[in-house]
Amino acid sequence: MTHPTSADFTLAVHGGAGTILRSKMNAEREAAYHAGLRRALDAGRVVLADGGRAVDAVTAAVMALEDEPLFNAGRGAVYTSAGKQEMDAAIMDGSDRAAGAIAGICGPRNPILAARAVMEKSDHVFLIGESAMAFCRDTGIAFEDATYFFTDQRWNALQETLAMRRSGAEDLDESRKHGTVGAVARDRNGHLAAATSTGGMTAKSPGRVGDSPVIGAGTWADDGTCAISATGHGEIFIRYAAAHDIAARMRYAGQSLEEAARHVVVDVLAPVGGSGGLIAVDRDGQFSLPFNCSGMYRGVVTADGILRTAIYDEPLRDVS
Ligand code: ASP
Repeated sequence: MTHPTSADFTLAVHGGAGTILRSKMNAEREAAYHAGLRRALDAGRVVLADGGRAVDAVTAAVMALEDEPLFNAGRGAVYTSAGKQEMDAAIMDGSDRAAGAIAGICGPRNPILAARAVMEKSDHVFLIGESAMAFCRDTGIAFEDATYFFTDQRWNALQETLAMRRSGAEDLDESRKHGTVGAVARDRNGHLAAATSTGGMTAKSPGRVGDSPVIGAGTWADDGTCAISATGHGEIFIRYAAAHDIAARMRYAGQSLEEAARHVVVDVLAPVGGSGGLIAVDRDGQFSLPFNCSGMYRGVVTADGILRTAIYDEPLRDVS
């Protein structure tokens, strides 16, 4: 949905999409998700309200989501089939298309800061694995050990997924596989930025990299069109260049953000098994938050300062 707004800044965040079953929720858990999204919105809002840059706002918002163990990024990231956490993240600044990404790391407290360091302190866009870790250490960003990142919930999800695999049963619970966090923003100077961070998918093969850190697939920002952060079945989002497809539809076909974003999520990705969704903002501050599954943790704040969030197929609301 796009909500016309005269606001001079817009920030949208997500905490992943999937089969978010009401039966697995209770009021307390739901409130915790809303509170986590609100903290992220507020962290970014402070930057934007102060006239700060979109790239700083999405960094602040994603850091807040990474710190929150409920979401699959940073603390609380999911486990690979080998019982390790391998995190991916990317950031893109729409003002000059600067971008930074990392994949397959575990150590930096906030993987989005690692991606940002790649963007700002290296000659490269994408660093992976052990060498990326060495680079991160050199930049001086904060590190944590495995106990900081551990959560019972993710560890148990891995054990259940592996048990199902051993018994030959298919894991139909998408909510166990999905999850990612992200933010997109348009600042008061009309600049756009996007940031995405994830643990990937539960029980993924060691070394597997999804769409989140792939520029043009799970993350995109370009002041001429839009900023996008995606969440969902990463392999499909990569194959369909999901985020860039939306920008291209706007640039070359003159589509609106809403038209382009909805088309890609509903008509392109869904039919080929690309379950998930994305958050998008355009150069005018319009936003679109389409998803093709039962829910997506999401929220938006504009210059009125009201933090609006939603989980299921429902309107955004102020749950303060
Ligand atoms: N897109 C992420 C990945 O494939 C997972 C997710 O967003 O649910 O790694």
